Amino acid sequence: MKLVEHLINGELVSMGDPTQDVFNPSTGEVGKQVEIATKNTVEKAITAAQEAFPAWRATPPLKRARIMFRFKELLEKNINKIAQLIGEEHGKIAHDALGEITRGIENVEYACYAPQLLKGEHSKNISSNIDSWSEFHPLGVVTGITPFNFPAMVPLWMYPMAIVCGNCFVLKPSERDPSAALFVAQLLNEAGLPKGVMNVVNGGKEAVDTLLTDERIQAVSFVGSTPIAKYIYQTATAHDKRCQALGGAKNHAIVMQDAEMENTVNALIGAAFGSSGERCMAISVAVAVGEETADNLIAGLKSKMSDLKVGNFDNSKNDFGPLITQEHMEKVKEYITSAEAQGADIVVDGRSVNVKGCENGFYVGGTLIDSVEASMKSYKEEIFGPVLQVVRVETMQQAIDLIDEHEYGNGTCIFTRDGEAARYFSDQIKVGMVGINVPLPVPAAQHSFGGWKQSMFGDLAAYGPDSVRFYTRRKTITQRWPSSSIREGVNFSFPS
Ligand code: NAD
Repeated sequence: MKLVEHLINGELVSMGDPTQDVFNPSTGEVGKQVEIATKNTVEKAITAAQEAFPAWRATPPLKRARIMFRFKELLEKNINKIAQLIGEEHGKIAHDALGEITRGIENVEYACYAPQLLKGEHSKNISSNIDSWSEFHPLGVVTGITPFNFPAMVPLWMYPMAIVCGNCFVLKPSERDPSAALFVAQLLNEAGLPKGVMNVVNGGKEAVDTLLTDERIQAVSFVGSTPIAKYIYQTATAHDKRCQALGGAKNHAIVMQDAEMENTVNALIGAAFGSSGERCMAISVAVAVGEETADNLIAGLKSKMSDLKVGNFDNSKNDFGPLITQEHMEKVKEYITSAEAQGADIVVDGRSVNVKGCENGFYVGGTLIDSVEASMKSYKEEIFGPVLQVVRVETMQQAIDLIDEHEYGNGTCIFTRDGEAARYFSDQIKVGMVGINVPLPVPAAQHSFGGWKQSMFGDLAAYGPDSVRFYTRRKTITQRWPSSSIREGVNFSFPS
Protein backbone atom coordinates (compact mmCIF):
# COMPACT_ATOMS: atom_id res chain seq x y z
CA MET A 1 0.00 0.00 0.00
CA LYS A 2 1.24 3.49 -0.83
CA LEU A 3 2.98 5.26 2.03
CA VAL A 4 2.71 9.04 2.45
CA GLU A 5 6.14 10.20 3.62
CA HIS A 6 7.66 13.47 4.86
CA LEU A 7 9.40 16.16 2.82
CA ILE A 8 12.59 17.18 4.61
CA ASN A 9 15.46 19.17 3.19
CA GLY A 10 14.12 18.86 -0.36
CA GLU A 11 13.70 15.05 -0.27
CA LEU A 12 10.74 12.75 0.24
CA VAL A 13 11.79 10.56 3.14
CA SER A 14 10.43 7.72 5.19
CA MET A 15 11.66 7.96 8.78
CA GLY A 16 10.29 4.57 9.81
CA ASP A 17 7.66 6.31 11.97
CA PRO A 18 4.43 4.56 12.98
CA THR A 19 1.69 4.76 10.34
CA GLN A 20 -2.01 5.53 10.21
CA ASP A 21 -4.69 4.64 7.62
CA VAL A 22 -5.78 7.26 5.09
CA PHE A 23 -9.31 6.52 3.85
CA ASN A 24 -11.06 7.15 0.58
CA PRO A 25 -14.24 8.53 2.19
CA SER A 26 -16.26 8.01 -1.00
CA THR A 27 -15.93 4.23 -0.68
CA GLY A 28 -14.91 3.82 2.95
CA GLU A 29 -11.81 1.88 1.90
CA VAL A 30 -8.29 2.47 3.16
CA GLY A 31 -6.35 3.96 0.23
CA LYS A 32 -2.94 4.76 1.76
CA GLN A 33 -0.92 4.84 4.94
CA VAL A 34 0.63 8.01 6.32
CA GLU A 35 3.71 8.21 8.52
CA ILE A 36 3.00 9.83 11.88
CA ALA A 37 6.07 11.86 12.75
CA THR A 38 7.82 11.37 16.05
CA LYS A 39 9.62 14.21 17.85
CA ASN A 40 12.85 13.09 16.20
CA THR A 41 11.40 13.47 12.67
CA VAL A 42 10.02 16.93 13.41
CA GLU A 43 13.34 18.05 14.89
CA LYS A 44 15.10 16.90 11.73
CA ALA A 45 12.76 19.08 9.64
CA ILE A 46 13.31 22.08 11.94
CA THR A 47 17.07 21.60 11.68
CA ALA A 48 16.87 21.55 7.86
CA ALA A 49 14.83 24.76 7.92
CA GLN A 50 17.17 26.42 10.41
CA GLU A 51 20.22 25.62 8.28
CA ALA A 52 18.56 26.96 5.13
CA PHE A 53 17.56 30.24 6.82
CA PRO A 54 20.74 32.41 6.58
CA ALA A 55 21.06 32.06 2.79
CA TRP A 56 17.33 32.39 2.21
CA ARG A 57 17.10 35.50 4.40
CA ALA A 58 19.86 37.07 2.30
CA THR A 59 18.13 36.23 -1.02
CA PRO A 60 16.62 39.41 -2.54
CA PRO A 61 12.79 39.52 -2.39
CA LEU A 62 12.67 39.78 -6.19
CA LYS A 63 14.45 36.45 -6.54
CA ARG A 64 12.17 34.87 -3.95
CA ALA A 65 9.16 36.21 -5.85
CA ARG A 66 10.42 34.73 -9.13
CA ILE A 67 10.23 31.29 -7.54
CA MET A 68 6.63 32.04 -6.59
CA PHE A 69 5.86 32.93 -10.23
CA ARG A 70 7.20 29.53 -11.33
CA PHE A 71 5.31 27.84 -8.47
CA LYS A 72 2.05 29.44 -9.68
CA GLU A 73 2.65 28.08 -13.18
CA LEU A 74 3.33 24.59 -11.83
CA LEU A 75 0.16 24.72 -9.74
CA GLU A 76 -1.87 25.64 -12.82
CA LYS A 77 -0.22 22.90 -14.88
CA ASN A 78 -0.92 20.27 -12.20
CA ILE A 79 -4.34 21.50 -11.11
CA ASN A 80 -6.20 18.33 -12.14
CA LYS A 81 -3.73 16.06 -10.39
CA ILE A 82 -4.09 18.09 -7.17
CA ALA A 83 -7.89 17.94 -7.47
CA GLN A 84 -7.67 14.16 -7.88
CA LEU A 85 -5.54 13.84 -4.70
CA ILE A 86 -8.01 16.01 -2.79
CA GLY A 87 -10.92 13.93 -4.07
CA GLU A 88 -9.35 10.58 -3.17
CA GLU A 89 -8.68 11.51 0.45
CA HIS A 90 -11.19 14.27 1.24
CA GLY A 91 -14.08 13.27 -1.03
CA LYS A 92 -14.45 16.71 -2.62
CA ILE A 93 -15.97 16.68 -6.13
CA ALA A 94 -13.61 18.01 -8.85
CA HIS A 95 -15.57 21.26 -9.50
CA ASP A 96 -15.24 22.12 -5.82
CA ALA A 97 -11.60 21.01 -5.49
CA LEU A 98 -10.65 23.13 -8.54
CA GLY A 99 -12.24 26.16 -6.83
CA GLU A 100 -10.21 25.48 -3.70
CA ILE A 101 -6.95 25.24 -5.63
CA THR A 102 -7.72 28.40 -7.60
CA ARG A 103 -8.24 30.34 -4.37
CA GLY A 104 -4.93 28.93 -3.14
CA ILE A 105 -3.18 30.06 -6.34
CA GLU A 106 -4.50 33.58 -5.69
CA ASN A 107 -2.47 33.59 -2.46
CA VAL A 108 0.63 32.62 -4.45
CA GLU A 109 -0.10 35.49 -6.85
CA TYR A 110 -0.27 37.84 -3.88
CA ALA A 111 3.11 36.52 -2.67
CA CYS A 112 4.54 37.47 -6.08
CA TYR A 113 4.15 41.12 -4.99
CA ALA A 114 6.89 40.58 -2.39
CA PRO A 115 9.25 43.36 -3.54
CA GLN A 116 6.38 45.83 -3.20
CA LEU A 117 5.01 44.38 0.06
CA LEU A 118 8.41 44.37 1.78
CA LYS A 119 9.42 47.88 0.73
CA GLY A 120 9.36 49.29 4.24
CA GLU A 121 8.51 52.82 5.31
CA HIS A 122 10.74 55.88 5.09
CA SER A 123 10.57 59.35 6.67
CA LYS A 124 13.09 61.92 5.56
CA ASN A 125 13.99 64.66 8.05
CA ILE A 126 12.03 63.46 11.09
CA SER A 127 14.14 66.12 12.81
CA SER A 128 16.82 68.40 11.39
CA ASN A 129 19.07 66.27 9.20
CA ILE A 130 17.73 63.06 10.71
CA ASP A 131 16.06 60.34 8.61
CA SER A 132 14.20 57.29 9.88
CA TRP A 133 12.88 54.12 8.25
CA SER A 134 11.34 50.80 9.13
CA GLU A 135 12.45 47.51 7.63
CA PHE A 136 10.59 44.20 7.78
CA HIS A 137 12.84 41.31 8.71
CA PRO A 138 11.97 37.60 8.48
CA LEU A 139 11.48 35.75 11.75
CA GLY A 140 13.40 32.53 11.04
CA VAL A 141 11.73 29.11 11.06
CA VAL A 142 7.94 29.27 11.20
CA THR A 143 5.29 26.56 11.10
CA GLY A 144 1.78 25.94 9.81
CA ILE A 145 -0.67 23.35 11.17
CA THR A 146 -3.66 22.84 8.91
CA PRO A 147 -7.11 21.15 8.87
CA PHE A 148 -8.50 18.43 6.63
CA ASN A 149 -11.20 20.45 4.93
CA PHE A 150 -9.05 22.53 2.54
CA PRO A 151 -5.98 20.31 2.16
CA ALA A 152 -4.46 22.42 -0.63
CA MET A 153 -5.79 25.93 -0.02
CA VAL A 154 -5.22 26.48 3.71
CA PRO A 155 -1.49 25.59 3.55
CA LEU A 156 -1.30 28.06 0.64
CA TRP A 157 -2.76 30.75 2.93
CA MET A 158 0.43 30.40 4.94
CA TYR A 159 3.71 29.35 3.41
CA PRO A 160 3.89 31.36 0.16
CA MET A 161 3.80 34.57 2.20
CA ALA A 162 5.99 33.22 5.00
CA ILE A 163 8.63 32.06 2.53
CA VAL A 164 8.55 35.09 0.26
CA CYS A 165 9.11 37.22 3.38
CA GLY A 166 12.38 35.32 3.91
CA ASN A 167 11.36 32.66 6.45
CA CYS A 168 11.82 28.90 6.28
CA PHE A 169 8.77 26.71 6.84
CA VAL A 170 7.69 23.43 8.42
CA LEU A 171 4.13 22.43 7.45
CA LYS A 172 2.10 19.87 9.41
CA PRO A 173 -0.96 19.12 7.27
CA SER A 174 -3.98 17.09 8.37
CA GLU A 175 -3.07 13.43 8.74
CA ARG A 176 -6.51 12.55 7.37
CA ASP A 177 -5.80 13.83 3.83
CA PRO A 178 -2.07 14.60 3.59
CA SER A 179 -1.24 13.88 -0.07
CA ALA A 180 -2.38 17.11 -1.75
CA ALA A 181 -0.36 19.31 0.63
CA LEU A 182 2.70 17.09 0.19
CA PHE A 183 2.48 17.12 -3.60
CA VAL A 184 1.97 20.91 -3.72
CA ALA A 185 5.05 21.42 -1.51
CA GLN A 186 7.06 19.26 -3.94
CA LEU A 187 5.97 21.62 -6.73
CA LEU A 188 7.42 24.54 -4.80
CA ASN A 189 10.75 22.76 -4.61
CA GLU A 190 10.50 21.99 -8.33
CA ALA A 191 9.99 25.73 -8.91
CA GLY A 192 13.55 26.29 -7.67
CA LEU A 193 13.25 26.78 -3.91
CA PRO A 194 16.55 25.98 -2.15
CA LYS A 195 16.57 22.76 -0.13
CA GLY A 196 15.29 23.03 3.43
CA VAL A 197 13.32 26.26 2.97
CA MET A 198 10.06 24.26 2.74
CA ASN A 199 9.50 21.06 4.73
CA VAL A 200 6.44 18.92 5.41
CA VAL A 201 6.03 16.57 8.35
CA ASN A 202 2.98 14.37 8.54
CA GLY A 203 1.61 13.45 11.91
CA GLY A 204 -0.62 14.28 14.84
CA LYS A 205 -0.33 15.57 18.38
CA GLU A 206 3.30 14.58 19.00
CA ALA A 207 4.40 16.42 15.85
CA VAL A 208 2.33 19.48 16.74
CA ASP A 209 3.56 19.58 20.33
CA THR A 210 7.16 19.39 19.15
CA LEU A 211 6.56 22.36 16.84
CA LEU A 212 4.85 24.32 19.62
CA THR A 213 7.64 23.86 22.12
CA ASP A 214 10.87 23.82 20.06
CA GLU A 215 12.65 27.08 20.73
CA ARG A 216 13.83 27.34 17.10
CA ILE A 217 10.24 27.86 15.90
CA GLN A 218 9.44 31.59 15.87
CA ALA A 219 5.81 31.68 14.81
CA VAL A 220 2.83 29.34 14.51
CA SER A 221 -0.06 29.62 12.07
CA PHE A 222 -2.95 27.30 12.82
CA VAL A 223 -6.33 26.62 11.22
CA GLY A 224 -8.69 24.01 12.67
CA SER A 225 -11.35 23.49 15.32
CA THR A 226 -11.77 25.94 18.22
CA PRO A 227 -10.70 23.69 21.13
CA ILE A 228 -7.45 22.86 19.33
CA ALA A 229 -6.97 26.47 18.17
CA LYS A 230 -7.20 27.62 21.78
CA TYR A 231 -4.72 24.96 22.89
CA ILE A 232 -2.32 25.91 20.09
CA TYR A 233 -2.56 29.62 20.90
CA GLN A 234 -2.05 29.12 24.62
CA THR A 235 0.84 26.66 24.21
CA ALA A 236 2.64 28.60 21.47
CA THR A 237 2.42 31.94 23.28
CA ALA A 238 3.48 30.30 26.57
CA HIS A 239 6.62 29.28 24.66
CA ASP A 240 7.18 32.89 23.52
CA LYS A 241 6.07 32.33 19.93
CA ARG A 242 3.98 34.57 17.78
CA CYS A 243 0.69 32.79 17.03
CA GLN A 244 -2.42 33.13 14.88
CA ALA A 245 -4.96 30.35 15.47
CA LEU A 246 -8.15 30.27 13.43
CA GLY A 247 -10.97 28.13 14.82
CA GLY A 248 -14.47 26.85 14.11
CA ALA A 249 -17.63 28.59 13.04
CA LYS A 250 -21.40 28.79 12.98
CA ASN A 251 -22.28 31.07 10.10
CA HIS A 252 -25.73 32.64 9.95
CA ALA A 253 -27.53 34.08 6.92
CA ILE A 254 -30.30 36.58 7.62
CA VAL A 255 -33.15 36.37 5.12
CA MET A 256 -35.17 39.59 5.09
CA GLN A 257 -38.79 39.95 3.95
CA ASP A 258 -37.68 41.73 0.76
CA ALA A 259 -35.02 39.17 -0.28
CA GLU A 260 -35.31 37.86 -3.82
CA MET A 261 -36.40 34.36 -2.78
CA GLU A 262 -35.29 32.18 -5.70
CA ASN A 263 -31.76 33.60 -5.71
CA THR A 264 -31.60 33.40 -1.92
CA VAL A 265 -32.65 29.75 -1.94
CA ASN A 266 -30.04 28.88 -4.59
CA ALA A 267 -27.32 30.77 -2.72
CA LEU A 268 -28.16 29.02 0.55
CA ILE A 269 -28.24 25.56 -1.03
CA GLY A 270 -24.72 26.03 -2.41
CA ALA A 271 -23.36 27.61 0.77
CA ALA A 272 -24.91 25.05 3.15
CA PHE A 273 -24.35 21.82 1.24
CA GLY A 274 -21.30 22.53 -0.97
CA SER A 275 -18.35 20.41 0.16
CA SER A 276 -20.82 18.52 2.37
CA GLY A 277 -20.94 21.53 4.69
CA GLU A 278 -17.30 20.94 5.66
CA ARG A 279 -16.29 24.57 5.15
CA CYS A 280 -15.52 27.02 7.93
CA MET A 281 -17.54 29.58 5.95
CA ALA A 282 -20.48 27.25 5.19
CA ILE A 283 -23.87 28.71 6.04
CA SER A 284 -25.31 26.44 8.70
CA VAL A 285 -28.12 28.65 10.02
CA ALA A 286 -30.68 30.69 8.07
CA VAL A 287 -32.45 33.30 10.19
CA ALA A 288 -35.77 34.13 8.58
CA VAL A 289 -37.30 37.49 9.50
CA GLY A 290 -41.08 37.08 9.67
CA GLU A 291 -43.26 33.95 9.47
CA GLU A 292 -44.15 34.46 5.81
CA THR A 293 -40.45 34.74 4.87
CA ALA A 294 -39.73 31.55 6.83
CA ASP A 295 -42.56 29.62 5.20
CA ASN A 296 -41.49 30.71 1.69
CA LEU A 297 -37.85 29.94 2.45
CA ILE A 298 -38.61 26.45 3.77
CA ALA A 299 -40.84 25.70 0.78
CA GLY A 300 -38.17 26.88 -1.68
CA LEU A 301 -35.35 24.99 0.03
CA LYS A 302 -37.37 21.79 0.36
CA SER A 303 -38.29 21.80 -3.30
CA LYS A 304 -34.70 22.47 -4.50
CA MET A 305 -33.21 19.92 -2.13
CA SER A 306 -35.00 17.08 -3.86
CA ASP A 307 -32.51 17.60 -6.74
CA LEU A 308 -29.38 17.38 -4.57
CA LYS A 309 -26.91 14.76 -5.79
CA VAL A 310 -24.58 13.31 -3.18
CA GLY A 311 -22.03 10.69 -4.17
CA ASN A 312 -18.54 9.57 -5.16
CA PHE A 313 -15.92 12.31 -5.66
CA ASP A 314 -15.03 11.03 -9.13
CA ASN A 315 -18.44 11.80 -10.65
CA SER A 316 -18.37 15.51 -11.44
CA LYS A 317 -22.17 15.53 -11.80
CA ASN A 318 -22.48 15.09 -8.04
CA ASP A 319 -23.09 18.25 -6.01
CA PHE A 320 -21.17 17.11 -2.97
CA GLY A 321 -19.40 14.07 -1.65
CA PRO A 322 -18.97 12.21 1.62
CA LEU A 323 -17.86 13.41 5.04
CA ILE A 324 -14.25 12.91 6.03
CA THR A 325 -14.56 9.87 8.34
CA GLN A 326 -17.09 7.33 9.57
CA GLU A 327 -16.79 8.85 13.05
CA HIS A 328 -17.61 12.33 11.75
CA MET A 329 -20.57 10.95 9.76
CA GLU A 330 -21.98 9.40 12.96
CA LYS A 331 -21.45 12.69 14.82
CA VAL A 332 -23.35 14.69 12.19
CA LYS A 333 -26.25 12.22 12.34
CA GLU A 334 -26.29 12.53 16.13
CA TYR A 335 -26.70 16.31 15.84
CA ILE A 336 -29.74 15.81 13.60
CA THR A 337 -31.18 13.31 16.08
CA SER A 338 -30.57 15.71 18.98
CA ALA A 339 -32.38 18.55 17.16
CA GLU A 340 -35.34 16.25 16.60
CA ALA A 341 -35.33 15.16 20.25
CA GLN A 342 -35.26 18.81 21.38
CA GLY A 343 -38.37 19.64 19.35
CA ALA A 344 -37.10 20.96 15.99
CA ASP A 345 -38.82 19.91 12.79
CA ILE A 346 -36.75 17.74 10.40
CA VAL A 347 -38.07 18.86 7.01
CA VAL A 348 -35.54 16.97 4.85
CA ASP A 349 -33.66 14.11 6.51
CA GLY A 350 -30.28 13.03 5.11
CA ARG A 351 -29.50 10.44 7.79
CA SER A 352 -30.35 7.38 5.70
CA VAL A 353 -29.07 8.44 2.28
CA ASN A 354 -28.04 5.54 0.08
CA VAL A 355 -25.29 6.00 -2.51
CA LYS A 356 -25.40 3.10 -4.96
CA GLY A 357 -22.08 1.32 -5.40
CA CYS A 358 -20.59 3.25 -2.44
CA GLU A 359 -22.54 1.68 0.40
CA ASN A 360 -19.59 1.92 2.81
CA GLY A 361 -18.83 5.59 2.05
CA PHE A 362 -19.27 8.22 4.76
CA TYR A 363 -22.37 9.96 3.45
CA VAL A 364 -25.03 12.17 4.98
CA GLY A 365 -27.58 13.68 2.59
CA GLY A 366 -28.64 17.33 2.62
CA THR A 367 -30.71 17.97 5.74
CA LEU A 368 -33.08 20.86 6.48
CA ILE A 369 -34.31 21.56 10.01
CA ASP A 370 -37.01 24.12 10.83
CA SER A 371 -38.06 25.81 14.09
CA VAL A 372 -34.61 25.59 15.63
CA GLU A 373 -34.11 27.38 18.96
CA ALA A 374 -30.95 29.03 20.29
CA SER A 375 -30.95 26.69 23.30
CA MET A 376 -30.58 23.53 21.18
CA LYS A 377 -27.29 21.63 21.05
CA SER A 378 -27.45 21.49 17.22
CA TYR A 379 -27.63 25.29 17.17
CA LYS A 380 -24.95 26.01 19.74
CA GLU A 381 -22.23 23.72 18.37
CA GLU A 382 -20.49 23.48 15.02
CA ILE A 383 -21.87 20.47 13.11
CA PHE A 384 -19.60 20.63 10.03
CA GLY A 385 -21.94 18.64 7.83
CA PRO A 386 -24.64 19.16 5.17
CA VAL A 387 -27.22 20.44 7.65
CA LEU A 388 -29.07 23.74 7.30
CA GLN A 389 -31.09 24.91 10.31
CA VAL A 390 -33.73 27.61 10.17
CA VAL A 391 -34.43 29.94 13.10
CA ARG A 392 -37.56 32.08 12.93
CA VAL A 393 -37.46 35.64 14.32
CA GLU A 394 -39.74 38.68 14.03
CA THR A 395 -37.29 41.53 13.42
CA MET A 396 -33.85 42.17 11.94
CA GLN A 397 -32.64 43.36 15.34
CA GLN A 398 -33.58 39.99 16.85
CA ALA A 399 -31.58 38.30 14.08
CA ILE A 400 -28.55 40.51 14.76
CA ASP A 401 -28.78 39.87 18.53
CA LEU A 402 -28.99 36.12 17.92
CA ILE A 403 -25.82 36.17 15.80
CA ASP A 404 -23.97 38.41 18.21
CA GLU A 405 -24.79 36.16 21.15
CA HIS A 406 -23.33 33.09 19.41
CA GLU A 407 -19.83 32.17 20.58
CA TYR A 408 -18.49 31.98 17.02
CA GLY A 409 -18.00 34.98 14.76
CA ASN A 410 -16.40 33.77 11.56
CA GLY A 411 -18.73 34.66 8.67
CA THR A 412 -22.28 35.90 8.16
CA CYS A 413 -24.44 37.38 5.43
CA ILE A 414 -27.73 39.10 4.76
CA PHE A 415 -30.11 38.69 1.84
CA THR A 416 -32.07 41.87 1.20
CA ARG A 417 -32.80 44.56 -1.38
CA ASP A 418 -32.71 47.25 1.31
CA GLY A 419 -29.39 49.13 1.34
CA GLU A 420 -30.10 50.81 4.66
CA ALA A 421 -30.74 47.48 6.37
CA ALA A 422 -27.64 45.93 4.79
CA ARG A 423 -25.45 48.84 5.86
CA TYR A 424 -26.76 48.76 9.42
CA PHE A 425 -26.20 45.00 9.58
CA SER A 426 -22.63 45.10 8.26
CA ASP A 427 -21.75 47.95 10.64
CA GLN A 428 -23.28 46.44 13.78
CA ILE A 429 -22.68 42.71 13.50
CA LYS A 430 -19.91 41.20 15.68
CA VAL A 431 -18.51 38.90 13.01
CA GLY A 432 -15.22 39.12 11.10
CA MET A 433 -16.36 38.46 7.51
CA VAL A 434 -19.66 39.79 6.23
CA GLY A 435 -21.56 39.23 2.98
CA ILE A 436 -24.33 41.35 1.52
CA ASN A 437 -26.21 39.07 -0.86
CA VAL A 438 -22.95 37.06 -0.91
CA PRO A 439 -23.33 33.76 0.94
CA LEU A 440 -19.63 32.85 1.29
CA PRO A 441 -17.79 36.14 1.87
CA VAL A 442 -14.30 34.60 1.85
CA PRO A 443 -11.98 37.61 1.46
CA ALA A 444 -9.92 37.86 -1.73
CA ALA A 445 -6.15 37.29 -1.44
CA GLN A 446 -5.39 41.03 -1.24
CA HIS A 447 -7.47 41.26 1.96
CA SER A 448 -7.02 39.06 5.05
CA PHE A 449 -9.09 36.20 6.46
CA GLY A 450 -10.12 36.02 10.09
CA GLY A 451 -13.13 35.67 12.32
CA TRP A 452 -14.02 37.27 15.64
CA LYS A 453 -14.82 35.84 19.08
CA GLN A 454 -14.07 32.09 19.40
CA SER A 455 -13.30 31.83 15.67
CA MET A 456 -9.83 33.36 15.91
CA PHE A 457 -7.12 33.73 18.55
CA GLY A 458 -4.32 36.19 17.88
CA ASP A 459 -4.08 39.70 16.51
CA LEU A 460 -3.25 39.25 12.83
CA ALA A 461 -5.47 37.36 10.40
CA ALA A 462 -4.45 34.88 7.71
CA TYR A 463 -3.04 35.84 4.30
CA GLY A 464 -3.18 39.27 2.63
CA PRO A 465 -1.69 42.39 4.27
CA ASP A 466 -1.87 40.94 7.81
CA SER A 467 0.37 38.05 6.77
CA VAL A 468 3.20 40.40 5.76
CA ARG A 469 3.17 41.75 9.31
CA PHE A 470 2.69 38.31 10.88
CA TYR A 471 5.70 36.77 9.12
CA THR A 472 8.08 39.70 9.64
CA ARG A 473 9.33 41.80 12.50
CA ARG A 474 9.87 45.50 12.28
CA LYS A 475 13.23 47.16 12.75
CA THR A 476 13.25 50.95 12.83
CA ILE A 477 16.50 52.75 12.08
CA THR A 478 17.20 56.40 12.82
CA GLN A 479 20.16 57.98 11.01
CA ARG A 480 22.09 61.20 11.17
CA TRP A 481 25.42 62.09 9.55
CA PRO A 482 26.55 65.22 11.36
CA SER A 483 28.83 67.56 9.54
CA SER A 484 32.42 67.08 10.72
CA SER A 485 32.67 70.87 11.24
CA ILE A 486 29.95 70.91 13.95
CA ARG A 487 30.87 70.39 17.61
CA GLU A 488 27.95 69.39 19.89
CA GLY A 489 27.52 69.61 23.64
CA VAL A 490 25.97 67.06 26.01
CA ASN A 491 22.17 67.12 26.14
CA PHE A 492 20.36 65.49 29.09
CA SER A 493 16.80 66.19 28.01
CA PHE A 494 14.83 63.60 26.05
CA PRO A 495 15.35 64.15 22.30
CA SER A 496 12.38 65.96 20.77
P1 NAD B 1 -8.76 19.81 13.96
O1 NAD B 1 -8.72 20.90 14.95
O2 NAD B 1 -9.20 18.47 14.41
O3 NAD B 1 -7.29 19.59 13.32
C1 NAD B 1 -6.55 20.65 12.80
C2 NAD B 1 -5.07 20.32 12.92
O4 NAD B 1 -4.74 20.17 14.31
C3 NAD B 1 -4.67 19.02 12.24
O5 NAD B 1 -3.44 19.21 11.59
C4 NAD B 1 -4.55 18.04 13.39
O6 NAD B 1 -3.59 17.03 13.17
C5 NAD B 1 -4.13 18.92 14.55
N1 NAD B 1 -4.63 18.42 15.85
C6 NAD B 1 -5.79 17.77 16.08
N2 NAD B 1 -5.91 17.47 17.38
C7 NAD B 1 -4.80 17.93 18.00
C8 NAD B 1 -4.34 17.94 19.35
N3 NAD B 1 -5.07 17.39 20.33
N4 NAD B 1 -3.16 18.51 19.62
C9 NAD B 1 -2.42 19.08 18.65
N5 NAD B 1 -2.80 19.10 17.34
C10 NAD B 1 -3.98 18.54 17.02
O7 NAD B 1 -9.65 20.33 12.74
P2 NAD B 1 -10.14 19.53 11.47
O8 NAD B 1 -11.21 18.56 11.88
O9 NAD B 1 -9.00 19.03 10.68
O10 NAD B 1 -10.79 20.72 10.60
C11 NAD B 1 -12.11 21.16 10.77
C12 NAD B 1 -12.20 22.35 11.69
O11 NAD B 1 -11.38 23.39 11.18
C13 NAD B 1 -13.58 22.93 11.78
O12 NAD B 1 -13.84 23.29 13.12
C14 NAD B 1 -13.53 24.17 10.90
O13 NAD B 1 -14.45 25.18 11.21
C15 NAD B 1 -12.14 24.61 11.13
N6 NAD B 1 -11.65 25.47 10.06
C16 NAD B 1 -11.53 26.79 10.32
C17 NAD B 1 -11.10 27.65 9.32
C18 NAD B 1 -10.96 29.11 9.58
O14 NAD B 1 -10.37 29.78 8.76
N7 NAD B 1 -11.44 29.64 10.68
C19 NAD B 1 -10.80 27.14 8.04
C20 NAD B 1 -10.92 25.78 7.82
C21 NAD B 1 -11.35 24.94 8.86
